[in-house]
Amino acid sequence: MLDTMKKVFGFTSFLPDQETIIRNILNRKDVFAVLPTGGGKSLCYQLPSKILPGTTVVISPLISLMKDQVDAAQENGISASYLNSSLNPVERSEVYRDLKKGDLELLYIAPERFVMSNFLEELKTVQISLFAIDEAHCISEWGHDFRPDYLSLTHITSLFPDIPVAAFTATATVKVQDDIIKKTGLRTPYVVRASFNRHNLFYQVKRKEQVESQILNFIHEHENESGIVYRTTRDAVLKLADFLSKHGVRALPYHAGLPAEERKRNQEAFSRDEAAVMVATIAFGMGIDKSNVRFVIHADLPKNIESYYQETGRAGRDGEPAHCLLYFSRGDIPKLKYFIDGIADDKEREIATDKLYRIIRYASHNICRRSYLLEYFGENYPAENCGACDICTGMVEKIDITIDAQIIMSAMLRTGQRFGIRHTIDIVCGANIKRIRELRHDKIKTYGAGKHKDKKHWHFLVDELLVQDVIHQDGDKYPVLKLTKKGIDILYGKETIAALKTEEKKKRPLALGDEGFTPYDEYLFEKLRVLRKKIAEEQNVPPYIIFSDRTLHEMCRYYPGNMSDMQRISGVGDTKLEQYGEGFIREIKAYINENPGRPERQSSAEQSFFPHANLGPKRIKGETIQKTHELFEKGLSIEQIAKVRNLAKSTIEGHLEQLIRDRKDIDINRLVDPAKQDEIKESFLILNTWKLNPIVEYFNGKVSYEEAKFVRALLQQNDSKKIIEK
Ligand code: ADP
Ligand code: ZN
Repeated sequence: MLDTMKKVFGFTSFLPDQETIIRNILNRKDVFAVLPTGGGKSLCYQLPSKILPGTTVVISPLISLMKDQVDAAQENGISASYLNSSLNPVERSEVYRDLKKGDLELLYIAPERFVMSNFLEELKTVQISLFAIDEAHCISEWGHDFRPDYLSLTHITSLFPDIPVAAFTATATVKVQDDIIKKTGLRTPYVVRASFNRHNLFYQVKRKEQVESQILNFIHEHENESGIVYRTTRDAVLKLADFLSKHGVRALPYHAGLPAEERKRNQEAFSRDEAAVMVATIAFGMGIDKSNVRFVIHADLPKNIESYYQETGRAGRDGEPAHCLLYFSRGDIPKLKYFIDGIADDKEREIATDKLYRIIRYASHNICRRSYLLEYFGENYPAENCGACDICTGMVEKIDITIDAQIIMSAMLRTGQRFGIRHTIDIVCGANIKRIRELRHDKIKTYGAGKHKDKKHWHFLVDELLVQDVIHQDGDKYPVLKLTKKGIDILYGKETIAALKTEEKKKRPLALGDEGFTPYDEYLFEKLRVLRKKIAEEQNVPPYIIFSDRTLHEMCRYYPGNMSDMQRISGVGDTKLEQYGEGFIREIKAYINENPGRPERQSSAEQSFFPHANLGPKRIKGETIQKTHELFEKGLSIEQIAKVRNLAKSTIEGHLEQLIRDRKDIDINRLVDPAKQDEIKESFLILNTWKLNPIVEYFNGKVSYEEAKFVRALLQQNDSKKIIEK
């Protein structure tokens, strides 16, 4: 398995659950798997298609995606085709011919084919290794995306009793799961429910103010990255796309009201990295297989957590870091409420309202965004600090609410924990009402203890206490408030509690994610991206199909200089190595020649390879840097050294940068005014980037590109995390 995986896909290890799923398939067992987006579902059936004799038939609902999936498989050297209504008769008979000859390892079909008797007759005459049902939730009426044509799959196991069936989906509650298994008649399948945690996604919520400019700023800081911005209305989509375009961003709009032709064109431009940003309503989503979406921004509050999780799920499918940013304003709530209030069915309306409140809590409370999302889906996230959300990384300012919390809890305790939210708040606010007087609650010590703050404040506070599990509601019809263990500790001063301050804190740490994503050479990445784009255009496929961002990033860490090093890069299988290996090696070599100081980590023959090798100390390359070092030590300026050595000033600067990074006792005070150094250092932390452009912009001309570069090298001397702690 490992061998084939390396050869075909270029991967050296499995993602979670892939291995057991594949083992079960190879043992001809049925499988039902819920894996999150980016979890690597396609490998689970594509790898068996390479190992098992016969054709693996994949049932997939989206005709628009089949071509890309087949293209991607073919790029890896898998013999793959598809059958759907978009093919003309000649193309179709070619596919049938290949199928009958046994030449196809992988065949994608649309579900409706399963009720076409002539197709089924054909299938019965060929050797089939496996049926893989993609997006299996479409078969269940309980799922969020039921498709009647999927019902044709209910016969699959009775029509083909000897062939294993593996069903995959990214979303299925246990109820939907049972329904799918029953409908398809899976035979005591091996069931996997993977974690929904997307460890490479960074979650952040920001206060929405002037959202268009806020988004523009964000995009400027994420130059050359691909992303989606969701807006609720079509008008807002068009307006924002226009605004961004006017400011030089390659942005396109997408909503259901645009002509089909234009939608298709825009989606393709996005997929092919021609447009960097897609501004869209939620109509844009299904059928986005693009793996290098680096950010998903919500400019308006989504209507529930399911939608938010699904939409943000489109970021970072390649496993590389990606950013999910929600701009939140309480002003968005009434609009959503208005729609919900229009729902006729009482029960449905209640559910929708409840779901809305859950997303509001997500956006406004002081709890780890990741653990909140996961908890929503019934998953317990064990870590105290996820390391990849704005809360856990301290990007937001908090205020201590212990005293107010104690006031509420004391009122609860003194009334025997037998009253609900409204009554408790009435007590705290000192309401002069009959019920309070009757119960003699105006006599307790906390009566009126919080009257200096308005009711809204106390409602928010109670909500916060509920969300942070300090108090809980007990009872269905007339729920009463009770303390939890945590609440008791806070009440008796053993613990404190904080809430989010609505003002945003500026400072941001550099750390991203708990997985410790390693930096890569961004300049080289730009070059390789351009090359990838060129090849993709020639092949007429989206760039991420040639190599994923993840694969390019790895090249930009290890600078593979020959075919055997190249082969060790994750995502470079035999076919891609043969097709593109040399082109990329050439580009990398050219880059190294132009930037001798650049490669920070090299894979030499003796200190052989990564990916898990320690990224040992960085070596100074060659005599040339040495020479610069000597001259600098003698007191020459950059200009003088450049002149003496007859090299470009920028080359010398590159040498010095490298020398600083390698801690070669360069007196940086000669390069950057000492008074500025701390400020520049801090700006890297504040802006949370290693990029130079944002830093230079941040100082508005006060700091030069070179100064920023030298300070960055200084920061990079040490482990960046240590610097943050200081
Ligand atoms: P899903 O369909 O579950 O969203 P994909 O099958 O599109 O996920 O895979 C997501 C990404 O992960 C793709 O870029 C794929 O090439 C990559 N991938 C899959 N399996 C592995 C693996 N074992 N190692 C590294 N990357 C992988
Ligand atoms: Zn967190």
